[in-house]
Amino acid sequence: MGSRIAFIGLGNMGGPMAANLVKAGHEVTGFDLVPAALEVARTKGIAIAKSAADAARGANVVITMLPAGRHVLTACEGPEGLLAVAEPGTLFLDCSTIAVDDAREVHRKVAEAGHRGLDAPVSGGVVGAEAGTLTFMVGGSDTDFAEAEPILQAMGKRIVHCGRPGAGQAAKVCNNMILGISMIAVSEAFVLGEKLGLSNQALFDVAANASGQCWALTTNCPVPGPVPASPANRNYQPGFAGALMAKDLGLAVHALESTGVDGRLGALAEEIYRRFAEGEGADKDFSAIIREIRANSKTKETV
Ligand code: NAD
Repeated sequence: MGSRIAFIGLGNMGGPMAANLVKAGHEVTGFDLVPAALEVARTKGIAIAKSAADAARGANVVITMLPAGRHVLTACEGPEGLLAVAEPGTLFLDCSTIAVDDAREVHRKVAEAGHRGLDAPVSGGVVGAEAGTLTFMVGGSDTDFAEAEPILQAMGKRIVHCGRPGAGQAAKVCNNMILGISMIAVSEAFVLGEKLGLSNQALFDVAANASGQCWALTTNCPVPGPVPASPANRNYQPGFAGALMAKDLGLAVHALESTGVDGRLGALAEEIYRRFAEGEGADKDFSAIIREIRANSKTKETV
């Protein structure tokens, strides 16, 4: 039998994720601050509540898919907050991407209120949310993970239990820091290759089969041509938008600072992507960083 699920945050990701829960036979009641998001959700079989609190009353699982940590904490707190109105022992799944410290605070508040909770951020983007092929990175206890797994399976393909509370967000932030740094490295190498008179295809053919091989090169290649499905072939339409990479690197820098790790490349990648996202990069795929690197490069005779 399906669960009674409250779904808070029916945006680009939450909307299709909630729709997949309905398809899997769960009873889903949703809420979002934006009326247009509610209208779309209604057409997908999601019952619409008048408030987040109304959605959570009587649910046995509450899922949040919100922009940032402060939204999750605000939604949870207060006399009409999710934690106060939910039945004791409700399972809270936060799928938003938030700081590890915020995730731990959410866990603490969930437990204090007599509930159970998991952090369960995702990768796979809107395409993965629609297709039900997201990867979930989960932090929390074994028993709560076992209960959540079949629910997460309705929205994802790979469900990974990363460890204790906050471990899901930790895995996500570490992975995306690798991704941001490696996309900059690949882009700098292509621009350098261009300046040295090397064709993009020749550099790809070598690096894709050598020690420079990585996802940023072989799946999301920042130059058009070598990987036909990469966003570079469609004018850098995302994909994974520059604004989201800037956000995730901001979370990485927060984590580097709070742990004292010497993460100079992570910090520099954050600065580069933050500036990129303040301009046209916000809505472009994050691989469009190569255009900025090219534009910032000095004009000299190619060798
Ligand atoms: P979005 O902005 O499209 O959706 C967030 C929704 O939350 C909005 O519709 C907003 O109105 C709603 N909201 C905000 N405060 C609320 C509240 N108090 N009550 C109810 N609704 C509220 O963002 P998104 O792209 O769906 O991303 C959601 C989360 O998933 C973010 O944390 C993001 O970093 C993460 N994420 C996004 C992607 C992606 O490709 N879009 C990929 C992986 C992870």
